[in-house]
Amino acid sequence: MLYREGPDTLRVYFKDEATAFNAQKRGVIPGKGVVNNKVSAALFRYLEAHGIRTHFLEEVSEREMRVRRVEILPLEVILRFRAAGSFARRYGLGEGTPLKAPLLEFSLKNDALGDPLICENAVLALGLAGEEELETVKRTALRVGELLKAFFAERGLELVDFKLEFGRLGGEVLLADEISPDTMRLWDEKGEPLDKDRFRKDLGGVEEAYQEVLRRVLG
Ligand code: 5GP
Repeated sequence: MLYREGPDTLRVYFKDEATAFNAQKRGVIPGKGVVNNKVSAALFRYLEAHGIRTHFLEEVSEREMRVRRVEILPLEVILRFRAAGSFARRYGLGEGTPLKAPLLEFSLKNDALGDPLICENAVLALGLAGEEELETVKRTALRVGELLKAFFAERGLELVDFKLEFGRLGGEVLLADEISPDTMRLWDEKGEPLDKDRFRKDLGGVEEAYQEVLRRVLG
């Protein structure tokens, strides 16, 4: 949830409510908001320290962060290291099938249409992003992928895939939204998901999985 703070800043409040499958499934994951706020803040700080420009300004409370006000590009930018979720379903692959190289995909951010996959040419033809902006988005997403993969590997977690959103500010394109177990697939040493898939697939231990990710991110 976003609140306007000043002309240039927003306050993001992280809730415990969870949705999946385009909001057809709804529930509450107690403590999720706190985890997602702290994980996102830690990851934005880590990425900024490695030269990625983000909308993050500061953590304000357990469930709130202050961010720069940006104009969000209507794109979900997804980077995959293994086939999972919608990609595995689309091509009839087993969950976790390795990919030869990291795969970058774009979806149009549009709930009514179910966030359909969109190709780069369509992004440009529809004017959703300019050519230079799209290049920045692609380059940044791949670099964020390298950085996050290494970050989680050091903590015994495998980053399977993740979704990013970007926003415009002046002439710049900044990493925006959140980076949390809601927007990533993370597997532990046994290949057990510690992310929103536990909620999506009714695997149980959802709260515990989110807390474990927080423990490892901060630890
Ligand atoms: P998939 O396309 O396989 O469902 O998702 C790929 C990755 O992007 C997963 O880590 C998933 O959590 C994330 N993702 C894709 N779409 C959305 C979305 O609309 N909301 C959120 N929170 N994450 C998404």
